[in-house]
Amino acid sequence: MADILKEVAKFIPKDADISDSVFEGANIVVYTKKKDFFLNNNGLIREIVNNIKKRVELRADPSITMDREEAEDVIKKLLPDDAGLSQIIFDVQRSIVIIESEKPGVAIGKNGEILKTIKEKTLWIPQIKRTPSIKSKLIENIRGVLYENDDYRRKFLHKIGKRIYDGWVKERRSGWIRVTFLGAARHVGRSCILLQTPESKVLLDCGVDIASEENSFPILDVPEFNLSELDAVILTHSHLDHSGLVPYLYKMGYRGPIYCTAPTRDISSLLALDFISIANKEAKDPIFSSGDVKEMVKHSVVLDYEEVTDITPDMRITFYDAGHVLGSAMIHIHIGNGLHNLLYTGDLNYENSNLLQKAITKFPRLESVIMESTYGGRDDNPPTRQECEDELIGIIKNTIGDKGKVLIPVLGVGRAQEIMLIIEKAIRTGLIDEIPIYVQGMVWDVTAIHTAYPDFFNTEVKKAIFHKDQNPFLNKIFKHVGSQKEMQQVLEGGPCVVLATSGMMTGGSSVEYFKNFASFSKNSLVLVSYQGPGSLGRRLENGDKEIRMNEKETIKVNMKINILRGFSGHSSRDQLMDFVKNLDPKPRKIILIHGESSKSLNLASSIHKTFRIETSAPRTLDTLRIR
Ligand SMILES: [Zn+2]
Repeated sequence: MADILKEVAKFIPKDADISDSVFEGANIVVYTKKKDFFLNNNGLIREIVNNIKKRVELRADPSITMDREEAEDVIKKLLPDDAGLSQIIFDVQRSIVIIESEKPGVAIGKNGEILKTIKEKTLWIPQIKRTPSIKSKLIENIRGVLYENDDYRRKFLHKIGKRIYDGWVKERRSGWIRVTFLGAARHVGRSCILLQTPESKVLLDCGVDIASEENSFPILDVPEFNLSELDAVILTHSHLDHSGLVPYLYKMGYRGPIYCTAPTRDISSLLALDFISIANKEAKDPIFSSGDVKEMVKHSVVLDYEEVTDITPDMRITFYDAGHVLGSAMIHIHIGNGLHNLLYTGDLNYENSNLLQKAITKFPRLESVIMESTYGGRDDNPPTRQECEDELIGIIKNTIGDKGKVLIPVLGVGRAQEIMLIIEKAIRTGLIDEIPIYVQGMVWDVTAIHTAYPDFFNTEVKKAIFHKDQNPFLNKIFKHVGSQKEMQQVLEGGPCVVLATSGMMTGGSSVEYFKNFASFSKNSLVLVSYQGPGSLGRRLENGDKEIRMNEKETIKVNMKINILRGFSGHSSRDQLMDFVKNLDPKPRKIILIHGESSKSLNLASSIHKTFRIETSAPRTLDTLRIR
């Protein structure tokens, strides 16, 4: 038995009849065969937690839990009808019952009363999961994978725990810490950082660069990287340039954990599956299969914001809201029991948006920061969000006044939902007339995932959902366009707004709509994303009025072309500087990555001059010793 399990055992009285003690990741779980001890241990477990400073959970041994059918009846009777029960699933060996409900708040009951009663009557530990308000096949599949593999997961989580607590020490460690940039240094795309100590090796993000032909993947064939020695992968968010290569690691045999938030796990999986289907459509060999995506899900460990967890003997991580997309996190890593504290921001937005809270700047301790610099250039201050919102509403108002249609090409994740909220608010408050907002394919799927995780929204949206039962995404103005037939109806119908992928109009249904809308001057196109060189979106931005689609087809562009630059999920230059200014505590060193060379260098020099903080802007493959 591991030392820490022995330490826990010392606290527990002999007559508690402990049948097993195991790890679930960094958590310690103790099973008892004594009902009385399980239900009434007079705060002993809390005392143990206070003493060893690790999470400890007491569960009933499977042999004393209530028969499943009986327990299901008890649960059904206890739950109020408006809890919207959709599924009850038993994880038999862990004595856990998962209750999927549309209204978790109702299912939990006032002060957790209902859950407490379920536990007392059945001896099962109830866990509530939210059923998304918009049906999501993907979430059903992901939960299915986790439920089907509960036996594998139990062993897997125990193995992680053994690794964490093997050689467990309470004292501060000494030693060195190095970071190697395997991509996205003086560059945007293929984010991947190898963080090493004498004890651990972890990857922070592992993305692809879709725009680049020869530098699509992080450079993994370097001497210091060995997949079989990797302890963990930690993901900041779901965008492919941060998550896209993770399934490939599983294809190559990696079987360790991937840490991320639940929305990041779900949206990354959706984007990975979409990545495969795009490759198939273009008759290219996808670099990984849906089986590899499934392995990723099987090995995922999800954490909430500000939930602290050990991941190796000398690393403890905490996710903080990054404000960039749903579930996006900054990773705070506490290394060596106080030796050093590192923050990796991933992509960050230091501005409240309609959907999300701005990035956090207060941390328990902080010595080094690795920070993005996408808009780090001196002049990277686009129009404000409010100016862009007003302009967007004006465009929609004028276009529908002319009986025209508005096409907004979007990335599936982030801006699409932000724009949905802006339009919803404008219609709800009477700024524009009620017209249908058509949401195409992928955008709808990602929006459905949003409805499973309202806890990740900003306070205002949360209040509307939880206190006024007013979920903006459920407004009936939003209409899902799933089939070719439905799309045809949109093309033949009246004034409307269409949200469709891809954002740069390099493919997908946004191109189909464009071909149909382009020749009519009463229609409008609104470009809200960055348009890459060579993309159809870039040509339209440049004012091309005749677009040659292929040998047979040339499109005349008469529709109005509008460019709105302020909807970025990234901080502007001023916001990046403000973020650094407000960092508390002030770090000693800031490393700038995820930006074109000139932008990373410029931001590095400004931060140094303004705040007297040591900065650097490494290149890809550079290794820095941060301690
Ligand atoms: Zn991103």
